[in-house]
Amino acid sequence: MIVGIDLGTTNSLIAVWQDGQSRLIPNSLGEVLTPSCVSLDEDGSVLVGRVARERLQTHPERSAAVFKRYMGSDKALRLGTREFRAEELSALVLKSLKADAEAALGQPVTEAIITVPAYFSEAQRRATRVAGQMAGLKVERLLNEPTAAALAYGIHQLGSESRFLVFDLGGGTFDVSVLELFEGVMEVRASAGDNFLGGEDFSNALIDLFFERLGLPAWLRKDTLFMQRLSAQAEAAKRTLSQASEASIRLWHEDTEHALDLDEATLANVCAPLLARLRQPVERALRDANLRAAELDRVVLAGGATRMPLVRKLVTTLFGRFPTIDFNPDEVVAMGAAVQAGLKVRDAALSEVVMTDVAPFSLGVAVSRHLSPNTQSNGHFDPIIERNTPVPVSRVKRYYPMHEAQISLGIQVFQGEARMVRDNIHLGELNVPVPQGDPDHNGVDIRFTYDVNGLLQVEATVMRTGATHALLIEGNPGLLDEAEIARRLKALEELKTHPRDQLDNRTLMARAERLYTQLRGDIREWLGHQIMVFEQIIASQDSSVIDAQRPRFEAMLDRIEKDGTTFDEPPHL
Ligand code: AMP
Repeated sequence: MIVGIDLGTTNSLIAVWQDGQSRLIPNSLGEVLTPSCVSLDEDGSVLVGRVARERLQTHPERSAAVFKRYMGSDKALRLGTREFRAEELSALVLKSLKADAEAALGQPVTEAIITVPAYFSEAQRRATRVAGQMAGLKVERLLNEPTAAALAYGIHQLGSESRFLVFDLGGGTFDVSVLELFEGVMEVRASAGDNFLGGEDFSNALIDLFFERLGLPAWLRKDTLFMQRLSAQAEAAKRTLSQASEASIRLWHEDTEHALDLDEATLANVCAPLLARLRQPVERALRDANLRAAELDRVVLAGGATRMPLVRKLVTTLFGRFPTIDFNPDEVVAMGAAVQAGLKVRDAALSEVVMTDVAPFSLGVAVSRHLSPNTQSNGHFDPIIERNTPVPVSRVKRYYPMHEAQISLGIQVFQGEARMVRDNIHLGELNVPVPQGDPDHNGVDIRFTYDVNGLLQVEATVMRTGATHALLIEGNPGLLDEAEIARRLKALEELKTHPRDQLDNRTLMARAERLYTQLRGDIREWLGHQIMVFEQIIASQDSSVIDAQRPRFEAMLDRIEKDGTTFDEPPHL
């Protein structure tokens, strides 16, 4: 069975193509959004999803979130006594989604289409593939997120002709894609984006404001528990401001309550620099696609952060029209990934759709340029595949040694748009031995092949000898080799997973414990007692009692969460 997965910075979703449409699969809590959070329980078992998100606050040293930002890097994230790389934590999220899908579909899930931000680099894409592999999934294809969103919309428009722009602001990334649907062919005309701009930055702006307005000392930022709680409150306030005109952030530290009231104007003010950064990729994508905003048939929103009225307002001003929101922006990418899964199995309902995509960034090599016969300038970027070239693509360019005595040509591969390679991203290097002689007759052909998954292959052919060399991505700390992947895969398999059927109780307990850390005084003591009672109920293993008490315990937590410290008459279990 093949599934479509949106492996998001904040939340992940899994969907299948069934009976001619995309269907989202809920997790064991009955929710389609699974927070991309992982925590290690005290007994060493892995907790994924909402339970892990709750534990970010109570057990920050054993929990991790937003690790998608570190995909493709060698950053180690510590959970308890163990260290994980981002692809391993992503693998644990994928495994959990896979188990949910298998439980819902009643059959093994072995293959997946996984979405990635269009702007993900080579190393980040490879890391995503590895994450799939470590979760026991064959990654059939990596699909760009905005392309997936467009596919979800596109299938409703078969036969018509339209141009649309996907504005995708997720938790950690921003992508813009311009697509055209013509006679059943969906073509990505251009993509642009910012890999370091997302909804989390808006929450972070509120955190900074909290520190600034309340004059809190910088060392408090090192207090992990305080920061986790502040971060949760900032996130909640940001969401409240998507629906209401006012919100507040309230937090106890030692014996003082710090409170900050927020309204739409304050939010607009602190977020102005972030909103300004959203403009540039939009302009670039339109320019690359050779279109004016007025020529677009519609603007589609994707990513949870597009729920913010401020962002919607900006989109409306930028394009002079309201965006289309037929789908839930959190869900549209996963829905599109499932369409791609349907395309893979050649579902009859989709037989007319053909999908083409583009390379979202330029790929090239470092070259030296002669300034005069005796002087040269090094480190110039020479693109071989220009950004927004339709993929798959294979392009070749010939390069020559600088001198007769040269015995090798060092090929440094980069991605980016800057003139000098120092401002672009280094992907790898290849040393090609060349016979000595007249440089003009000593060319080396460098072929770049970029596949539909956005993965690059580089091959060099020495023209005089016919010798070929393939790029070995070396010295890139972000990449794991096969032996290392196998070793880590084995280690992940040895980790215990928390039983799916007990996850609802476990999640509720984690939430209760998180609330406990936020409260003070009598209500806190009272909650501690209730937690103990519920713990005993769970320990009884009497499912009829547990099932009867769980909704009551949950309703009680809802009330405490809503009324917080002003709660004066505690309810009873
Ligand atoms: P995604 O990665 O697409 O799931 O997007 C998650 C981002 O959307 C996070 O930064 C959330 O804070 C943000 N988000 C989700 N829902 C809302 C909302 N109602 N209001 C504001 N931001 C939201």
